[in-house]
Amino acid sequence: MSRPPAPALPPLREVIARHGLTAAKALGQNFLFDEQLLDRIAAIPGKLEGKPVLEVGPGPGGLTRALLRAGALVTAIEMDRRCLPALAELGEAFPGRLRVIEGDALKIDPATLFAEPYAIVANLPYNVGTALFTGWLSGESWPPAWSSLTLMFQHEVAQRITSAPGTSAYGRLAVLAQWRSEARLAMKVHRSAFTPPPKVMSAIVHLVPAAMPEGVSARMLERVTEAAFGQRRKMLRQSLKGLPGALEALATLAIEPERRAETLSVAEFVAIARVLSG
Ligand code: SAM
Repeated sequence: MSRPPAPALPPLREVIARHGLTAAKALGQNFLFDEQLLDRIAAIPGKLEGKPVLEVGPGPGGLTRALLRAGALVTAIEMDRRCLPALAELGEAFPGRLRVIEGDALKIDPATLFAEPYAIVANLPYNVGTALFTGWLSGESWPPAWSSLTLMFQHEVAQRITSAPGTSAYGRLAVLAQWRSEARLAMKVHRSAFTPPPKVMSAIVHLVPAAMPEGVSARMLERVTEAAFGQRRKMLRQSLKGLPGALEALATLAIEPERRAETLSVAEFVAIARVLSG
């Protein structure tokens, strides 16, 4: 059965003016108004018709309306209560398709909100986005409760997440994002697309869970990358020497201890963590 046509909605700028939603710097509010751009962002996770989506930080609802237009069943967590009336209006335009939860996303376990896998989509302030991202990727149990992540970051952070070995951007975030997921930089977003424009460019990262390598503890991998990249200019024999068994693991795996962290592939980090997890 085909979906009814999307309802006509007032322009976002009008919604913001009517509800007095001046962007609050303390909440990292930079709003997107370009509906075509928002529709392109909502298309990144793939077909959303009838699918559950968690949106974190909907603000006045620009991305939310694009997700609803794409047919998603949206649950949105927003901590700025000034935005709730605008979101309630949007909910009325898409009956039964938008659930809004007022609260701090850092304090809510989204898995408790859904009975089936859900896509996560968010345009968040940098510090909140990175904290949520690392939390969503750090659990021992895999696959996670979510089916994909589509997240706006500062361009430089998006590069760190998707970078390859041998580059200056490669580090803990890349290993965390890539060892059991496929991560790609899906779209660059110019700073002028936001109101007010932030100082730096942004980009959207899209990530889907992949198979988890066997016999590796996520916590151990985190300890290895923390030690290795904590002193990224040092040779591994120096940076890993405080981690019990790590130098023996390098010998077992024939990884030269003179190498530096940024030359190791994600698979090599996983192999070291596997030996240490055993
Ligand atoms: N999604 C809207 C857009 O794209 O135009 C707003 C994006 S704005 C960059 C970030 C939003 O996240 C704001 O509405 C802000 O109030 C909200 N926010 C910030 N920290 C949050 C948190 N810890 N939990 C939930 N929402 C948060």
